Amino acid sequence: MSSNYDVIDLENINQNPYCNHGPTILFKNKDKLFYACSACRDHKLCNFYLKYEEGKKISQEKYDFWLDQFKSTLIPIEDQNKKRKEIINSKNKRYCHNCNEFILNSESLKKHSDHFVLEKITDEMLKKPLQNILNPIEKNSSNAQFVFDDQTNLFIQNHIKKFEYDSVLCIGTPSIFENLIDSNINLMLLDIDDRFMMFYDENRYQKFNMFNNYFFYDKKKYELFLAKAKNLLVIIDPPYGGMVKLISNTINTIMKDKEDGNFSSPMGIRKNFPQALKIFYYD
Ligand SMILES: [Zn+2]
Ligand SMILES: [Zn+2]
Repeated sequence: MSSNYDVIDLENINQNPYCNHGPTILFKNKDKLFYACSACRDHKLCNFYLKYEEGKKISQEKYDFWLDQFKSTLIPIEDQNKKRKEIINSKNKRYCHNCNEFILNSESLKKHSDHFVLEKITDEMLKKPLQNILNPIEKNSSNAQFVFDDQTNLFIQNHIKKFEYDSVLCIGTPSIFENLIDSNINLMLLDIDDRFMMFYDENRYQKFNMFNNYFFYDKKKYELFLAKAKNLLVIIDPPYGGMVKLISNTINTIMKDKEDGNFSSPMGIRKNFPQALKIFYYD
């Protein structure tokens, strides 16, 4: 989206019609108002478009249709958990890059015979999938993934030590998350790429769209994570061209979530707010 576009009514975002990326955004371009995907600039990836008509309510039927369509794209969390356990327990782990799935027995290997299959995956490799297994998503898509260099990772590690952060929330920064995974800090990844569900449970990873501030599943684990955080660092990497207004809305909501979360925590934490929450931008 170019800067000619403005976004409207972000407070009521959950009442907007849904595309496969959660609630759409009401955009304004000159005198035109329309609902479109929050995450995809490329219409080939998501072509949701609905003209906004003043005073005309979207019918419940249509709204439910879009919502059902969205829900049908979600893999039930129980199935994901089961799958992840199977992956962990399997002695012979392979990963097909063409199908983006694990192959856990030689029987199912046949249907991937012409595909690029990564063999001999160890438990250690599973801890850092972006480094060891997955291909990063390319730049021109809705979810360009950037692998940060060693220098940036070292800088972040030093920064965490220097300011004694006990918690780090990585938003759209899986490579930074992976580099911190062996540390003993309270750590969570929010990212729209649900391939990470094959590797991490809900305490570690939540499927999240940073543009419409949308959690695809129950966000309880995220709230628990925030409640535990005494000194929180949020690292966010908005994809190039991401609308600043949408990202700042997301960050403001996280800050509010943190503040609310502190009501049930010891008073000392609340006093540190907002100094307790430091935001980093990388773009
Ligand atoms: Zn979409
Ligand atoms: Zn395959």
